Amino acid sequence: VGAEAVDYTYPGGGMGVHTGRDPNVKKPAWLRQKAPQGRAQCPNIGECWNGGGDGIATATIMLLGDTCTRGCRFCAVKTSRNPSPPDPMEPENTAKAIASWGVDYIVLTSVDRDDLPDGGSGHFACTVEAMKSLSPDIMVECLTSDFRGDLNAVTSLVHSGLDVFAHNVETVKRLQRIVRDPRAGYEQSLSVLKHAKLCKEGMITKTSIMLGLGESDEEVKEAMADLRAIDVDILTLGQYLQPTPLHLTVKEYVTPEKFTFWKDYGESIGFRYVASGPLVRSSYRAGELFVKTMVR
Ligand code: SF4
Repeated sequence: VGAEAVDYTYPGGGMGVHTGRDPNVKKPAWLRQKAPQGRAQCPNIGECWNGGGDGIATATIMLLGDTCTRGCRFCAVKTSRNPSPPDPMEPENTAKAIASWGVDYIVLTSVDRDDLPDGGSGHFACTVEAMKSLSPDIMVECLTSDFRGDLNAVTSLVHSGLDVFAHNVETVKRLQRIVRDPRAGYEQSLSVLKHAKLCKEGMITKTSIMLGLGESDEEVKEAMADLRAIDVDILTLGQYLQPTPLHLTVKEYVTPEKFTFWKDYGESIGFRYVASGPLVRSSYRAGELFVKTMVR
């Protein structure tokens, strides 16, 4: 990973962003995947739709609508200050649908809902409870927002019966203000992950970092050390890919060998499992990762 300093300042001053396309940074062959039909933005969609082969049937469901109250500079999700209110039937309908699919592992995730008093934590918790009631053997991971740092919201979700609490720090400390919405932050995300770990014995916690945004090796090591200091169990590392020319440019395509180095490094400093590769994403083979973590 390049250690060069990145100047994100526009000529007019203030915190700027690099968007457009950087002609000096070419997409390498290892990122060219055969795309299936459809409009989804995930680079693993071919692998997911063709079956992962791990024997753990896994599905990801997005709750609370498709419109986020934040605007991170790497994310292509729709944004609005006033998204539609949550569907009160969503927890029950989600649980019924999942029971009929017969899957083993579910990842529940959502956009940020800063418009809701609890940030959507209660809606997540109701969905987990409904799912566990209809499908007691199902394993549930919740990949959540930071609930604006509201630790009571974290507590109530952690006690709803989920198996893995996941929240992404997304990038190294220095790049937080550039990459994430200003309402997010490194310390806030660490406090959410720390609290989730502490408020229920045995809780598995998980986070994700994107590489290729201009971070140095030392900064990645610092982030990993900070995450280990609060006992995060599972780490995923993947290549940042620019979804549209309006989003942050890729500063570097990290090689598959470097991703392998980070997996080995992360596990050497105590993560129970590190999934690290150019196409790894937050919920990449989530069921398989959980099972591997539990048998270690
Ligand atoms: Fe995208 Fe999450 Fe940021 Fe919303 S908070 S813009 S969903 S990354």
